[in-house]
Amino acid sequence: MKKYLLIMLVLLSSTSCSSKENTEVNTSIESPITNEVEQAIQSETVVIEEVNLSTDTALTEIVSSNKFKKNVAPNMLEVSIQDIEPYILEDINHESIVNKCNRLPDEYVVENRVTANHNGYRTFELEEAAGDAWNALNADALEDGIYYVLIDGLRTPEDQQYLFDINYESDPDWALKYIAGVRHSEHEMGLAVDISTNEGFPPDNFYEIPEGIFLRDNAHKYGFVLRYPKGKEDITGIKYESWHYRYVGPELASVLYEEGITLEEYYSLEYEENE
Ligand SMILES: [Zn+2]
Repeated sequence: MKKYLLIMLVLLSSTSCSSKENTEVNTSIESPITNEVEQAIQSETVVIEEVNLSTDTALTEIVSSNKFKKNVAPNMLEVSIQDIEPYILEDINHESIVNKCNRLPDEYVVENRVTANHNGYRTFELEEAAGDAWNALNADALEDGIYYVLIDGLRTPEDQQYLFDINYESDPDWALKYIAGVRHSEHEMGLAVDISTNEGFPPDNFYEIPEGIFLRDNAHKYGFVLRYPKGKEDITGIKYESWHYRYVGPELASVLYEEGITLEEYYSLEYEENE
């Protein structure tokens, strides 16, 4: 089902994320604004409304009630996280976008968790709906003789910090561009799964073998999307990851799958030069 988005851009200053020239505060933002959030949204905030109201009102409400920060450069992959003042998300839900420009609040914790079936050597937890969906996908795949190994699930902030630190120690510049900082990873939401075969890491021809083909054709039915596709690195800010799937719920996943777009494109958060 095609959905059409009306994009209402609330631009509070220049397009530069780090610009602090304009201190004007957007009075149209309804919720109480803390100094921290106010500072974060001074540069730009995007509010999106869905026009096709005849479809699903719940999804419309979710999309229109959230605020986000747009990409700050034409190629987000090459932007260092040190150069971004991120927007701190409120009301985290299955559709929330977490990336270099949008982060989880420090106090955010995943309340409802389930154990994910992993078929491997480590046990992982996931957020409840994501975990239930993953376990269903995994069970259905097994019926078709397809065997997945889960190689990562929910990460605590400490897990993410460790991952960042070990990369930072070996190459700071590389880590600042290519490794998600603490509170910037979907794994900290319990909504991301890293999926492999029993061969170890997914092979280069993953989407030519049954394991990859089943995921490609069916993941969205369970609510998962390939979050960092090849060719969209400049928009997502993350290198192509054949293994990383994000739970967004079956409805939004189907929209993203059918349109062939990322979460950033869905929320129209791509960088637009002249705004
Ligand atoms: Zn991942």
